[in-house]
Amino acid sequence: MDHNSQSNLRKRVDVDDGYVELVDYMGSGDLAVVNAARVSFGKRKTEMDDGDVKLIRYLAQHKHMSPFRHLQLTFVIHTSEVVCRQLYKHQVGCAFSSGEFREVATVWNEISGRYVEFPNEFHQISKFRKQHKSNKQASLPDTLVDDNQKAREVYDSAIHNAYKAYENLLALGVCKEQARFVLPVGFMNTLTWTVSLEAVVNFIKLRDHDGAQLEIRKLAQAIHDLVKPLAPVSVAALLGDVVA
Ligand SMILES: Cc1cc2nc3c(=O)[nH]c(=O)nc-3n(C[C@H](O)[C@H](O)[C@H](O)COP(=O)(O)OP(=O)(O)OC[C@H]3O[C@@H](n4cnc5c(N)ncnc54)[C@H](O)[C@@H]3O)c2cc1C
Repeated sequence: MDHNSQSNLRKRVDVDDGYVELVDYMGSGDLAVVNAARVSFGKRKTEMDDGDVKLIRYLAQHKHMSPFRHLQLTFVIHTSEVVCRQLYKHQVGCAFSSGEFREVATVWNEISGRYVEFPNEFHQISKFRKQHKSNKQASLPDTLVDDNQKAREVYDSAIHNAYKAYENLLALGVCKEQARFVLPVGFMNTLTWTVSLEAVVNFIKLRDHDGAQLEIRKLAQAIHDLVKPLAPVSVAALLGDVVA
């Protein structure tokens, strides 16, 4: 098995008041996809050629997806709990075997608010968007509420009071696992995500999209920037940017 895991690989893109880092990956990029597919013919390549590019595009177009699962990527993501909750919905994509059981799931780990005190760090909002008129989930991306300054004051004061309550509970000797119930979902969380190339591109497709919330959309674009150089032909083919 090719294993290009590099413990010193740290590529970071800042996203608003958070960031995403590619901290590790396994698989020799587009070549890993090609070799996973060509093993059917007992073949193995050491360099990509035009035929391999065509093969990758064919695989993506005809949904022969298993070759795209041989690349695994690990990200550290620092973002608001609101975005984390949307991230956790992406469950499928890291195949591994454990004894006789075969699991197919992305791997998520996060900071434990039972072990550590959360710092006074919350998602900062400077521009408060208006609710979309017809799409009940969405906002109007370029339209701010009439009194943006007042919205900022209300938001900042709610965050401040909530964190003060958290500190007060801790000072009273309340355990961290209970005190954290007063924290709003704007708190900044840190998590680690290990995912296959197929699944991360599925994530980019769904979340760098008009219908997705702006905050996760920016994160999806940052993840796209990190993933694309590792397997450019495969990422473009899976996104449907090119056809076979
Ligand atoms: C704009 C937007 C709005 C959303 N709104 C909501 C919402 O209001 N409430 C909410 O709860 N969620 C919401 N979601 C989350 C959404 O329902 C998905 O859970 C999320 O996008 C993960 O996508 P996924 O299922 O493709 O990912 P994964 O769970 O990673 O699955 C990857 C792929 O595996 C396959 N797969 C997964 N599970 C199965 C299965 N059981 N059987 C067969 N194939 C499977 C599918 O092909 C799937 O695309 C929203 C997502 C978006 C993008």
